[in-house]
Amino acid sequence: MDFTVPEALSKDLIEFKQFLKDRVQLQLPGWYQRQEIPADFFREMGDGNWYGIGIEAGRLIKSSALREALIAEELAKISPGVAVAALAQVDLGLIALLLFGSDDLKARYGKSAAGGKTLMCVGSTERMAGSDVAGIEMRARKVKGGWLLNGTKAYVTNGYISDLAVITAVSHPRASRNRRISMYLVDLHAEGVKRKKLTKQVWIPSDLTRLQFTDVFVRQDHLLGHQGQGLQQVLTVFTFSRVPIAAMTLGTAVGAFELALAHAKKRKIFGQTITEFQAKAFEASDFYAKIEAARLMLWKACWKMDRNENFRQESSLAKYLAVEIARSVTAWAADIFGAASVIQEHPIHKFPMDAWASSLGEGTQDVQKLVIFREMMKNYG
Ligand SMILES: Cc1cc2nc3c(=O)[nH]c(=O)nc-3n(C[C@H](O)[C@H](O)[C@H](O)COP(=O)(O)OP(=O)(O)OC[C@H]3O[C@@H](n4cnc5c(N)ncnc54)[C@H](O)[C@@H]3O)c2cc1C
Repeated sequence: MDFTVPEALSKDLIEFKQFLKDRVQLQLPGWYQRQEIPADFFREMGDGNWYGIGIEAGRLIKSSALREALIAEELAKISPGVAVAALAQVDLGLIALLLFGSDDLKARYGKSAAGGKTLMCVGSTERMAGSDVAGIEMRARKVKGGWLLNGTKAYVTNGYISDLAVITAVSHPRASRNRRISMYLVDLHAEGVKRKKLTKQVWIPSDLTRLQFTDVFVRQDHLLGHQGQGLQQVLTVFTFSRVPIAAMTLGTAVGAFELALAHAKKRKIFGQTITEFQAKAFEASDFYAKIEAARLMLWKACWKMDRNENFRQESSLAKYLAVEIARSVTAWAADIFGAASVIQEHPIHKFPMDAWASSLGEGTQDVQKLVIFREMMKNYG
């Protein structure tokens, strides 16, 4: 097995790091203060083809999963909150369009979304249905020429800034759990849509928004995929998005770890640097080993995805391991800074909470274990 990052991809990464330095890093304090990411960021990500979905000969083409993972990791190292907004655009919204949109919908919205000009999000979770994706109550009622949507999506990343939302709703209430939901591409500027930005402590400066729909008309041609197949479709979207989310979570761990090491090398206590305490050096080695293990799992998931093999288990394993490790690494890293870690403006401050949030997007650790177990038992018959 070859673990070399291809030369073209290494060059891409150098360019991306420069983009982060020039266009993101200096502006971050302002974005954190205002708790918003300017539209320019999304456009510039598109201009640089950093979302990893481009147009070739009129068709939407996805770049390699490894490229996407490396970019997500780099972005999360400096800001998990900015990374999650970019990921929600491409790995939730755009990927649903790519997988389930008709040629007409892809032609209409694909280029603009891949360019970061049309912003996208996915609304699945409701107040009473998060892990239980099938338990949603939002209704889609068939009317002439389309559907009327009624209900509320409780937590939607990018919901405040998006133009389009991929929404799941119960279209066939009397059908079985597997066949009662459909997926729709909804114009968030349509009549009947209300947005409420929620106050939160994690993944700043991305927004988390409640979307309320009252008799929102969705044209028939904006149904994504097949009627009654929305549950399977949204679960497929999550299988795809867990891989970049795992990469982003790894970046959260690495970002905190690198900050802590840089500090530990300089900070003197009792006449020696923190790294000179063997107890701390051993802790750092332990975390480094775990980070490397999570990276290997992530790369395996990318490898399988790029070979078009079934990567359902690997995507959950990658996310599960990345979250476990990010939670412990970020707590350790914050501890290395002592009291400074509790100061809101301190760069280390955000990492433990952002690592915590990583468990929630695309399914909690328990949900990953369910997927891992189910797939595992297929092998153990
Ligand atoms: C910052 C943030 C951003 C988000 N962005 C989005 C978004 O863009 N779009 C979207 O649709 N949603 C989004 N969510 C919602 C997220 O997907 C859900 O919070 C998550 O799926 C968990 O659902 P829940 O909050 O309802 O928790 P619950 O499902 O109520 O879970 C509560 C607890 O029960 C455990 N549990 C659940 N089922 C089982 C089981 N079968 N066995 C054992 N334990 C179980 C869970 O692990 C958890 O510990 C976001 C959430 C956050 C915090």
